[in-house]
Amino acid sequence: MAKYDYDLITIGAGSGGVRASRRTAAKGKKVAIIENLRIGGTCVMRGCVPKKLLVMASHFRDDIEDSMGYGWEVPQTKFNWAKLISGKSNELDRLEGIYHKLLKDSGVQEITGTARLKDIHTIEVNGKLYTAENILIATGGWPQLPDIPGVKYAITSNEALDLKQLPKRIAIVGGGYIAVEFAGIFNTLGSKVTEIIRAPEILRGFDEDVRSFLAQEMEKRGVTISRNCEVEAITKTKSGLSLSMSTGKTLEVDQIFFATGRKPKSENLGLEDIGVSLNKKAAIEVDAFSKTTIDNIYAIGDVTDRINLTPVAIAEAEAFVRTIYDKIPTSLKYDNVPSAVFSQPPIGSAGLTEEEAVAQASSPNDIDVYITKFKPMKFSLSGRDEKTMMKIIVDANTNLVLGCHIVGLDAPEIIQGIAIALKCGATKAQFDATIGIHPTSAEELVTLREKR
Ligand code: NDP
Repeated sequence: MAKYDYDLITIGAGSGGVRASRRTAAKGKKVAIIENLRIGGTCVMRGCVPKKLLVMASHFRDDIEDSMGYGWEVPQTKFNWAKLISGKSNELDRLEGIYHKLLKDSGVQEITGTARLKDIHTIEVNGKLYTAENILIATGGWPQLPDIPGVKYAITSNEALDLKQLPKRIAIVGGGYIAVEFAGIFNTLGSKVTEIIRAPEILRGFDEDVRSFLAQEMEKRGVTISRNCEVEAITKTKSGLSLSMSTGKTLEVDQIFFATGRKPKSENLGLEDIGVSLNKKAAIEVDAFSKTTIDNIYAIGDVTDRINLTPVAIAEAEAFVRTIYDKIPTSLKYDNVPSAVFSQPPIGSAGLTEEEAVAQASSPNDIDVYITKFKPMKFSLSGRDEKTMMKIIVDANTNLVLGCHIVGLDAPEIIQGIAIALKCGATKAQFDATIGIHPTSAEELVTLREKR
């Protein structure tokens, strides 16, 4: 008789947990996955996927406006928020159905409920005990809100995706990915958006030129960015919500949305009781092979707070399966992870920022920067006042391209190919030797010759 009920139990059915479970089951192992919310996790149910549907919905407004410069005579248009939200919800139901089917077809048993570790091989769910040789924790993260008076009136990205109505006035607190993406969505769909950031600029950690260029473009589109400012209290009024700010000013809005970061979901799992260590930010501590401080317990994805991106969690899942079940120790390389921000206009980023490159160099003169700003062809006839910025950062000694950053139309689509070039160790000379594709915006990346 088997020593344990399962070879592997995964806690958390998000992108990482599902991938690891399916791949392990495909190797003939007995696998169960425990989830207390919807199968699909943050990315599919509360993050990337529904967010991108809303981004796409908002882009139609620009497309309709732009089309008029190209001869289209557009009758009066009307946007229906409720229809968008219901279409989005139907799509999520469809995707969740696919996830259930994928798990079932690969032989992974779903267990619905909240898991708690009783010992290093035993998990309790709804009063029932399940044992496993290995346990994988992939519980993700959850929005984090500051403890201020009236915070109960605030929403997070979870609720923003299901609002009954499009708010007329919305304050978005935070300057990270989520805040700038939702500022773009609500602004383009017609809300009056105030983004409140405590820092002098949005998107800390991104290239400085990217930060300031995107902020300018967002402001041109009508988003108000209140810099060096914090919300200290929220009170309900007859006509909305009144925000008291650290600047002494007040702002009245219909909705306040906190996008002030996410916390690893490591609470109430019983982790510390059995010896799994957490760091100061409540992330599960793991080694290069995603092993926790307990030999048979592993953790991947946002709960480990390494790079909190879906494709990274999936790559960590793949590495875990290779390490444990193929017996080929595999660790992930966390350099050159490209990312996109679906802001308006969007960002695509690969490799180092200029600031990181300079910090790593012996002297700032060792870094060459190529930068261009131009109006994309699409806006020539439409007259839209929106520019694109492209920036390439090069090691002056080796000619290696260290980083590439794009803000503008199609940036997320363009950067994926550039990320491959960077992974291959492309030099600026190789960029220059590549023939451009005309007429595109991307051809600028192979025609940049003037150093800044
Ligand atoms: P981020 O960590 O990116 O940003 C948090 C923001 O909130 C920062 O601007 C921070 O300011 C601010 N902040 C934190 N605490 C407070 C506070 N008490 N008062 C005021 N402002 C505060 O978090 P997000 O929630 O935007 O995103 C979470 C993660 O999700 C990201 O790290 C990313 O990995 C992932 N994500 C990725 C996306 C993509 O790939 N397109 C899209 C959405 C999310 P400061 O800079 O001053 O610290």
